Amino acid sequence: MNHLSLFCLLLFLVACKKIPSNSNPISETPNANSVSYETDIHKRYPRLWVEIALIKKDDVTIEYDPNLKNPGQGRGKNKLAISPSILTNTNLNENDLMIILWHEYGHVLDARTDPDRSQLSNFDRNTLAEHIAFRYSVEVAINYAKSKKDFSPLAEVITNLEAREKNGSLKDPHTIAIKQLLQEPFWQTAKEQVKNK
Ligand SMILES: [Zn+2]
Repeated sequence: MNHLSLFCLLLFLVACKKIPSNSNPISETPNANSVSYETDIHKRYPRLWVEIALIKKDDVTIEYDPNLKNPGQGRGKNKLAISPSILTNTNLNENDLMIILWHEYGHVLDARTDPDRSQLSNFDRNTLAEHIAFRYSVEVAINYAKSKKDFSPLAEVITNLEAREKNGSLKDPHTIAIKQLLQEPFWQTAKEQVKNK
């Protein structure tokens, strides 16, 4: 290879490297600012920070996706997304953020079981997935209360889900899933935990 063709090759490689970053500005990629988001979380929400670290240890990548319409989203077996807007939403406290995180992690764990729900309608499939994720978030909150003697996430999830049961749209699978969950003996057990703390 002569010098000119080597130069052309280098030019080509540099051009190839540049194309993706130009076509997809770094500020719009979901995880671009994960370090600064997590620095912020570390400072402001120490309990949330611990939970994020635990979930990451389970081979889960956490994406901070500014384009996400919902507070969070499970993305398959090894990824979940958080909307950065929830970190600055003054209507949400640290307990709410922990519950959102546990809920989305519940979706990840559900995906890992490779469930076959092809027989179900879209609506029923979504309702079942939400039911599993909500249940998981409450289970974690119960265990958290027991192990850390901190009942605040559990009290928060109970208040939130009871409010959503009353106010949520019946066309929303989340509402149906919550209605089912609140009928289960499990729900009474969760409430007793808070009462008897
Ligand atoms: Zn969900």
